[in-house]
Amino acid sequence: MRYPAQVLLVMAANPCPCAPNRPIDCKCPSGDKKRYFSRLSRPLLDRIDLRVEVSTPPASVILTDQSKAEPSETVAKRVARAREAAAARWAEAGQGWRLNSEVPGPALRSPEWRLSPKVTRSADELLLKERITARGYDRILKLSWTIADLAEHDGPREEDVAAASQLRIGYTMT
Ligand SMILES: [Zn+2]
Repeated sequence: MRYPAQVLLVMAANPCPCAPNRPIDCKCPSGDKKRYFSRLSRPLLDRIDLRVEVSTPPASVILTDQSKAEPSETVAKRVARAREAAAARWAEAGQGWRLNSEVPGPALRSPEWRLSPKVTRSADELLLKERITARGYDRILKLSWTIADLAEHDGPREEDVAAASQLRIGYTMT
């Protein structure tokens, strides 16, 4: 039985078995860290598009006034605009796609939507060095379009693909 579903999976893990407050206090041998992360299977991790290391906020951040931070409503409007831009673009393709994540990799690599090698250089290099899989490459392309939509660019620029590549490999968990 297949049910319609859209899944947003968010996972969190400690950086190592001892998980100290300050990374500098970690006493774990590197072998222990490797073993710790090897419990997460590679095929599972290959399906995680954004990998972000979150550090403990310093006391100064917690104790100061955060009311000047960008309000959630502003961020929500930016996201809504980006989703509208994506929906308008993919409507032209006539395939029923509305989100960048719904566009298959082969379509993004087809002559119609393919980005220039100069733009995709950072992702191309990762693929050539086998630091990412074919799936990883396509996920970087999708994310590049989203980053471009958020920045209100007409299409991904070199820096958008570089940012997407960095989010994929920035934290390698080894
Ligand atoms: Zn540790």
